[in-house]
Amino acid sequence: MVIGRMAVVGAGQMGSGIAQVAAQSGVEVTLIDVATGAVDAGRARIEKSLQKLVEKGKVPAAELPAILGRLRTGMQVSDAKGVDFAVEAITENEPLKKDVFRELDRVAAPAAVLASNTSSIPITRLAAATKRPGQVIGMHFMNPVPLMALVEVIRGAQTSDATYEATVDLAKRMGKTTVLSKDFPGFIVNRILIPMLNEACFALQEGLATAEDIDQAMRLGTNQPMGPLQLADFIGLDTCLAIAEVLHKGLGDDKYRPSPLLRQYVDAGWLGKKTGRGFHSY
Ligand code: NAD
Repeated sequence: MVIGRMAVVGAGQMGSGIAQVAAQSGVEVTLIDVATGAVDAGRARIEKSLQKLVEKGKVPAAELPAILGRLRTGMQVSDAKGVDFAVEAITENEPLKKDVFRELDRVAAPAAVLASNTSSIPITRLAAATKRPGQVIGMHFMNPVPLMALVEVIRGAQTSDATYEATVDLAKRMGKTTVLSKDFPGFIVNRILIPMLNEACFALQEGLATAEDIDQAMRLGTNQPMGPLQLADFIGLDTCLAIAEVLHKGLGDDKYRPSPLLRQYVDAGWLGKKTGRGFHSY
């Protein structure tokens, strides 16, 4: 399947990154967001990110006009009319995402693949909101999209082989490496990462060691670039809690229960780097 035109719905942190990398890889892309000012903010984020890549020598300055020329913006989902591939990257809210899938199903080309960047909503459920469940798939990019090599591809219960192949081809064209996951809570990365971060919260809660020593131990003892509490601060403690709750509820096993300390920090509004305070201060 040759992808000529693509749409990315949601121009936030993830959507703008996905649109940027698509435009860099030669795809004509329309970035869509319904919130006032969101597409302009998305475009500004893309320009800033590309500028940084130029400074680092990763993108030739001469290519900028062509990359930006492949990027269009729109303020309604129907601006995805006739696209061959759509990636939904709106707020993590199931009813809102289902509305977007219904509309994409109505306007995208009949053969188009409809992908979701959701971190936690079952692909099978989003697919059921459309009349083309075989053409719906999960395409879970990592943050920040222009720098992170991985895309988790998630096959819903009804996803066809052709849809899977088209998605892997697009991810490769975007310079990404894919892994395949079944449609279960947390997919691969969050299924393994979040319990580790949550365990670090339990260790801190129990007074096993200080936050500094927990992070130092994991950084130097397991060769990770960042300790688990600092990583949780960077992801956002509210996001970590939300994913822990999805694992706990979706997998039905108490081993995934969120740490009460994590919950208390979120209640206090200490959400990590974005609020200046989490397990560390910023
Ligand atoms: P964000 O809040 O930065 O952006 C979401 C955007 O969606 C906003 O600009 C909002 O205006 C827009 N939006 C909301 N409803 C819309 C609608 N009906 N139509 C069009 N646009 C709409 O969020 P984000 O961090 O970019 O996350 C987006 C998705 O990516 C979520 O599903 C999230 O779970 C997933 N994700 C996030 C990360 C991460 O680290 N932030 C990583 C992987 C996946």
